[in-house]
This record gives sequence, structure tokens and C-alpha cells, in this order.
Amino acid sequence: MLKLMNYKIRCTSCHKASVSILDFRCTSCGKPLDLGLDFNFEPRLVQLKNYSAWRYARFYPYVDARDTITLGEGWTPLVKFDDNLCFKLDYLNPTGSFKDRGSTTLISAIHRQVKKHGGYVAEDSSGNAGASIAAYSARAQLKAKIYVPENVSGPKINQIKSYGMPVVKVAGSRSQVAEKAQRAEKGKFYVGHIFHPFFRDGIRTLAYEIAEQSNWKTPARVYLPVSAGTLLLGVISGFRHLADSGTISNVPKTVACQTRQVSPLYHRMRKLEYKAPKKVTSVADALVSTNPPLLDLMIKELQGIRGDVEIVDENEILDAFTKLAHKGFFVEPSSAVAYAAYQKQLKNKEISKADKTVIVLTGHGLKTTLQTTP
Ligand SMILES: [Zn+2]
Repeated sequence: MLKLMNYKIRCTSCHKASVSILDFRCTSCGKPLDLGLDFNFEPRLVQLKNYSAWRYARFYPYVDARDTITLGEGWTPLVKFDDNLCFKLDYLNPTGSFKDRGSTTLISAIHRQVKKHGGYVAEDSSGNAGASIAAYSARAQLKAKIYVPENVSGPKINQIKSYGMPVVKVAGSRSQVAEKAQRAEKGKFYVGHIFHPFFRDGIRTLAYEIAEQSNWKTPARVYLPVSAGTLLLGVISGFRHLADSGTISNVPKTVACQTRQVSPLYHRMRKLEYKAPKKVTSVADALVSTNPPLLDLMIKELQGIRGDVEIVDENEILDAFTKLAHKGFFVEPSSAVAYAAYQKQLKNKEISKADKTVIVLTGHGLKTTLQTTP
């Protein structure tokens, strides 16, 4: 089958082209890399009988079909909640979070190279990405070492260990966990999901699915929880690709939703000063990036599509977490942040119930030990 080979990996700052698929940042200046697409999205190239994210395989030119590592991720349900509101149930992915979309493209693209060097992959994560990389590494028969903050929830640690991968708990901030994971060791290939462009690029399929499941008519607004920015950047990249190709008429108003404690993007977008707490104690324990390395890129992309930001307080998160569960949608508190932000904007009359809206529910409720309020 003919593959579309037009893509480039370049530095987001000095624009130097990357030569190795194992590079996770610019070898010249150290800034994050980004993947550029030089081909159109064409609905006729979607493999309609493949009910996974790989129905869009033709738009992933860097993955050879024979090397694909899949657990059946993607093509998650888009469920109508009320007249104009739909939930995208991405918590139904194989490891219980949207991260599987990124793990399948990243591990598919690199597992042969890492094995050829007799190495293993290292990843740092607040939990969900670690579980996902561990699962896809297991599927690829590749070793993975997962670095996590010491306060990661019990179910997430248990999940990572169950895939047979060692977990290293690191005290301190989220940035300190990343530093430890990146420290050079023999045989170690750092593939941090926040940095590696192949991970972020896998999230494009989420935008493709929302558009295809809506008959290529996109909603007016899309709400996402945002921490390190992989979900936000991947979704924007997907919608932009569809719009640039003429498949959809415009990119939906994308709303980046954050907790008050962890809201560097919200503050920068609103030109307000952000003071990170000494210790993040929010119930939304997957949203912990107080100093995200991709912040500049997030600002640029969100401004580029005239996106929006919102923050919510702890009581609003708990309320949304409980409301969702009491309607049958059991997601982790971090995922409830997006619904909390939607409710807040409705209450403040910034939006209307008549706006066609999609809220992405990102992580499964079984990953938390938190209980709903009565
Ligand atoms: Zn550079």
C-alpha cells in the first residue's frame, strides 16, 4: 500500500531537523520537537472496517504496518448526554485513559530500534501515561522503567506493576521526576510522552474520531482537561489538519480546563501572574504540571485557533465527579475537571446549552480511590 511519506520533525525553537526517531528533544538547543504534516487528510483513505485508532493508519507515515503495536485502542464511543452535549468516552481505552493513542504510535515507531540497541525505555508520568507505556511495552516485548511522583494513587502503581514493569517513585516536584527519568544510564532510552513528538502525534486520532463520528460536522466547543499539554496539542493538531485539508469547515473552540492549583496555561493566556503551590494537593491528581515544558507551544497553538481557558475549584471538581458518576459515567476526578469547567461557563452564561459541545472524558474512575459525595 502506498504510504504518504511527507512529514518532518523539527525543533520548535531553532527549527533544526531531527535525524533520529529516538531523539526526544532538539540535539542543538534542547527545546521540544514538533512533527509537521505535509499531506492532506482524505476521508476516502480511512479504513472503515478497522474499529480502532488505526483506521487512520494512512495518516501515520512513520509507522510500518508490520511494526504496529496495538491493543485495540481508539474508536471510543461518542455518547449523547443531552440535546447538544456529547461525551467522548476515552476512558474506555485499553489501559483506561486517552494516553493509549499516544503509546500505540510511539511504541510502534521505536520498538525495533530500541531492541536493536539492546535497550529499554524510560518514562516519567503522574500515572496514566506510565501505565499506558508499560502496557504497550509489554505488548511489544520491550522493557520499560516508569518514574512516578511518590503520591501516585495506589490503583495506578498497581496497574503499572501488573504489566511487569519496574516503578521508581521519586520525591519532589513533577519536574524532578522528569529529571530523574532523563538521567543517562546504560541501555536507557528516554521516551517521555510529554517530549516525544510521536506520542503527542498519536492524539490526533481523537480529533479525527470526534469529527468522523459527527459526520464531519464538528461541534462548536470541545472541553479538555489540561496539564502537560499532550492532549491539548494533539487534539488541536488533528482538528487543524482536518480544517487545512478542507474536511471540516473550521476548528472547534477548544477549551483548556485546569484546576486552580495547577493553572499555568490559564494564567498566561489571561496575562495574570501564576504562583504554583509548594505542594499540589488537588483531588485531580493527574493534573500536576505546574511548570510544563510545552507551555510556550500550548500558548502559541491555543491562540492560533482562538481557543479558550477555564479554571475550577476543588468543590466544583468534586461536584462534577459526583454528577458524572451518578449519571453512569465513572471517571477519575482529573477527567471531571472538563465537565466542571463546562458547568461553570454555563452558570456564568458565557456559553449556551444550544452550543453543540463535546467533553472528552479522559481517565477511568477505577484509577481513583476517591469516593463521590452522597
Ligand atoms: Zn533547537
